[in-house]
Amino acid sequence: MSTENNINQLYKNSIKILTDLIAFKTVSGEDNNSLIDYCDEILKKLGATSFKTFDEEKKRVNLFATIKAKKPNGTKPIILSGHTDVVPVSKSWSTDPFKATIKEDKLYGRGACDMKGFIACALAYAPIYSKANLNRDINFSFTFDEETACQGAPILIEELKKRGIKNAICIIGEPTNMKIIDAHKGCYEYTTYFEGLAGHSSAPHKGVSAVEYAAQYVNKLIELRQELKNRTSKESIFDPPYSTLQIGGIFGGIAHNVIADKCHVNWETRPVVKEDGIFLNSEIDKYANEVLLPEMKKTSSKSSIKKEIIGEIIGFNRVQNSEACELVSSLTRDNSREVVSFGTEAGLFQEIGISTVVCGPGSIEQAHKVDEYIMLDELKKCLDLLEGIKKNSTVN
Ligand SMILES: [Zn+2]
Repeated sequence: MSTENNINQLYKNSIKILTDLIAFKTVSGEDNNSLIDYCDEILKKLGATSFKTFDEEKKRVNLFATIKAKKPNGTKPIILSGHTDVVPVSKSWSTDPFKATIKEDKLYGRGACDMKGFIACALAYAPIYSKANLNRDINFSFTFDEETACQGAPILIEELKKRGIKNAICIIGEPTNMKIIDAHKGCYEYTTYFEGLAGHSSAPHKGVSAVEYAAQYVNKLIELRQELKNRTSKESIFDPPYSTLQIGGIFGGIAHNVIADKCHVNWETRPVVKEDGIFLNSEIDKYANEVLLPEMKKTSSKSSIKKEIIGEIIGFNRVQNSEACELVSSLTRDNSREVVSFGTEAGLFQEIGISTVVCGPGSIEQAHKVDEYIMLDELKKCLDLLEGIKKNSTVN
């Protein structure tokens, strides 16, 4: 078979696998065991070894599989990483979101670009890696619940640390149109719950309005937002250059004439540097515990303010001479480096010393949208990158 035929076969396989992957309804928070078993099966047949890590209920699972080097020579292993969850779908899709549908040069389906397309390419290419004279391990890392503030990856990364898999190069195939992304801000999400004391609106002094205390809390956050702006360093590579803060929703109260005993606030911040996140949290916690809460307790000792961390996706920092970026650059012949405004698992891998780059097929423009699709051409480009990795990782 000529190389051209090989590439064609790989391409066809990647579409077949992507079609299978889309059919697993792995919306964040849902059971993803069958998708993981499907991937594990493919890799095991090729002789890969693997381990799984789970959430507490074993409902959601991460897979880490390894195709071992045949001729190890100390070259750093590669990790091909993708999340298996997808965001929910609405009723307005023009096709069945869980049935891959090809129209012209696009493949439609939930997760087509974010990011089952990358996982499909990696699995389609795996047979070639398993036959090659690899001088380094090629690892496949498939996580759960990235879309809900990276809940799965930290569990996997804990295990990588235990197993001493820290000296590696990681490619995270989030949709970047195969461009190299080497930094993004953090993304921290919180819900703060206020509990006061219900009562008749004609006697506000006898109740504790959770809604009113929540409003003061929100005001304080908005004040702190200005301080975050003032903290911006001149070298910031982001747009906007400062750490942002946003109130996503305030929920509380039942009627005009009832003092609301419950209220909660959804809010998030995108810190440019970790320190901004620490600053913001300590300031708002201090305000809640030292100003608002004592005031609430004067009327009802049972009053409370509880901040729940929904997720804290740490930022991904630009590194000079990043091994991961240089490897991908050398293969795609694209020396550009870009930053993005969305969060990924990159910072988590980077934090334990793994050289990391975000680069994958499809466009973020189509992610999370109705009628999500991936340009078929992007799959080919991704397969080319995987081919380059093989060439870079084989000895004769
Ligand atoms: Zn994604």
